[in-house]
Amino acid sequence: MAFLANERCLTCSKELDGRFDKIYCNDLCRATYHNRKKSVDERCVRAVNKILLNNREVLKDLNEVKKLKPKKDMLLMKGFNFDFYTQVKDLNNRTYKFCYEWGYRIAAIDEVEIVQLDESSFLPGKK
Ligand SMILES: [Zn+2]
Repeated sequence: MAFLANERCLTCSKELDGRFDKIYCNDLCRATYHNRKKSVDERCVRAVNKILLNNREVLKDLNEVKKLKPKKDMLLMKGFNFDFYTQVKDLNNRTYKFCYEWGYRIAAIDEVEIVQLDESSFLPGKK
């Protein structure tokens, strides 16, 4: 069985010499590689959180204007992203998607019905 040696450091691309299992030229490059990887992970989490928090704000804002039932387009105009939500929950035999405590469902003719969950529904041991 042939071993394929890394010829270059994963971080700085400097040519490696020596052991087959070597993938960094030194500890600094090893640490740099792992820090970069970690920050990519964190960027993903931050990007998703940003979408979810914006969705939550949109639902909360539109709920303030009780007079009109918002249309799906109004949510889209405010940057709402329908692909992202934190949970799906049935209330009164209707299915709502939630972004944290604010939920919605698309009713007839693209009207959006917005609901808010009670804080207690998130506490452990309660339903
Ligand atoms: Zn290196």
